[in-house]
Amino acid sequence: MPGFELFGELERKEVNDVLDSGVLMRYGFDGMRNGHWKAKELESELQKQFQVKHAQVISSGTAAVSMSLAVAGVGAGDEVIMPCFTFVASFEAVMMLGAIPVLVDIDDTLTLDIEEVKKAITSKTKAIMPVHMCGSMANLEALKSICDEHKLVLVEDACQAIGGTYQGKALGTYGDVGSLSFDFVKTITCGEGGAVITNNDKYAQFADHFSDHGHDHIGNDRGAESHPFLGYNFRISELNAAVGLAQIKRLSDFIAIQKKHYTVLREALSQIPEVVFRTVPEGGEENYSFLNFFLPDLEITRNISKAFKDNGIDSCFHYYDNNWHYVRKWEHLKELKSLYPISEEVKDGLKYLQTKSFEKSDHFIGRNLSCLIKLSWTETEVKERANKMVEIIKNLLNN
Ligand SMILES: *Cc1c(COP(=O)(O)O)cnc(C)c1O
Repeated sequence: MPGFELFGELERKEVNDVLDSGVLMRYGFDGMRNGHWKAKELESELQKQFQVKHAQVISSGTAAVSMSLAVAGVGAGDEVIMPCFTFVASFEAVMMLGAIPVLVDIDDTLTLDIEEVKKAITSKTKAIMPVHMCGSMANLEALKSICDEHKLVLVEDACQAIGGTYQGKALGTYGDVGSLSFDFVKTITCGEGGAVITNNDKYAQFADHFSDHGHDHIGNDRGAESHPFLGYNFRISELNAAVGLAQIKRLSDFIAIQKKHYTVLREALSQIPEVVFRTVPEGGEENYSFLNFFLPDLEITRNISKAFKDNGIDSCFHYYDNNWHYVRKWEHLKELKSLYPISEEVKDGLKYLQTKSFEKSDHFIGRNLSCLIKLSWTETEVKERANKMVEIIKNLLNN
């Protein structure tokens, strides 16, 4: 998945354009910048490649998730239905707005279980936020019809699935609004960065203003701009955007490499009947950043995970025992360890976490291994890796 593996001349050239002019900011300074507008160019490139009307590039994926919700009007006391398997950033983004993350089970797609989503809807629900984990998506058509029926917004956290598609649409563009991350370990990187993408003109305008203190960006004098509403500073710097601009031009090459490596590993593991691959919803195509599969039970999965590590098969994650991605280890959220007071409404809204069990998700996450696909592997390395993985799995299954 990580774009940083292929960092080179193209990135250096874009960054040098910015260093040569010295204009590190994305707005203004027109005379000094030698015609370089890296953040704007990155936005145009995103619009073109993702076939989406608007893209607002900002400082991080976390800010992008939060902003996606904010532009859709999600705020204090609103409930956002989201999966219990995600990166911590997804619920942080909800909490930042004073809204309530309502975590529900996942299924064998490793993202939202549709029946659990239906059960979680209350009069306070404002949005459904699927998280397209590890390169593949939720059943977006089913979620869209639930949203239509209940008048909810569909907000996609596509931070980990850049380049994947659903019914021919880029992930992040199927719902009302979507978010992408370009942090250092994502499919393409800005160092740090993210984007809000949408076909909704109003949301796009909100994102433009909100990410820059509410500035309306009308006219040529920043100091004289008015503020139709409150905002924050989630701007990206031109240096970061320049890296992203080089990387996005390589995105289709990155995806092609991932697909090639993924296919070698998948074909090898397919020989083992006990290995079951993650379900990809009909009409979906992964971005091939991870190969995800299920093993027969938790104990075998733990053993195989350990044997992988002991034998040099790195970057295969068993999220069940991991602090960042699965509800089981999110004590800081469950105990509401906050630096500042949290509203009574949010405290009440999160009480369910004291008692709710996630048995369905335990069943899938406990048996899942998620193997990162690297861009830098050689063909020989991928083949050796595939053989080694097959050998380890077969050995431990027969024990
Ligand atoms: C990486 C990630 C984010 C946040 O992105 P940052 O750019 O690191 O802030 C949000 N959601 C998911 C699912 C992610 O993987």
